[in-house]
Amino acid sequence: MRYHNITKDDMLNGDGLRVVLWLAGCEHHCPGCHNPVTWNAEGGLFFDEEAKAELLEILERDYISGITFSGGDPLHPANIREVTALAAEIKAKYPGKTIWLYTGEVWENICKEEIVQYLDVLVDGPFAEEKKNVKLLWKGSSNQRVVDVQASLKENRVILHCEDYEEGENHAQNSEIS
Ligand code: SF4
Repeated sequence: MRYHNITKDDMLNGDGLRVVLWLAGCEHHCPGCHNPVTWNAEGGLFFDEEAKAELLEILERDYISGITFSGGDPLHPANIREVTALAAEIKAKYPGKTIWLYTGEVWENICKEEIVQYLDVLVDGPFAEEKKNVKLLWKGSSNQRVVDVQASLKENRVILHCEDYEEGENHAQNSEIS
């Protein structure tokens, strides 16, 4: 598995202050993608033990709400197995931290994957340029959904984590791309 960056104290990709792992590899190739450099699964850096230790060290901090997997697509065939193992480890080790994941896949296609049991929130669907709206909360286009994963699994239907907009907030800089 390869990645482009680890960002800490991130406020743009989920609730609270988060650590974000930006993975390499995406097959969706959405027109208008803000991050096409991440499409190549061979790009970026090898996610080695040192990178993992850096990630976990940031997660240890009390003020960090959790981790967000983004990219690229964390569910790309080159990533899904290792991201699943990492999410499982983080959920077991830090049960109080939340796990968010951005993917170009839609919920209906991936809700039976093992990884969803470890996720709190999944932002799904490809970025659609014609549906782009910079005021949307946690997502780039209106076709995407911010899914409450555990509630959705329980009720066997999509339950949203939050409304599309937050009063008084301007998320014009939301860096959601997956
Ligand atoms: S917007 Fe996201 S899903 Fe679409 S090509 Fe870019 S990284 Fe992939």
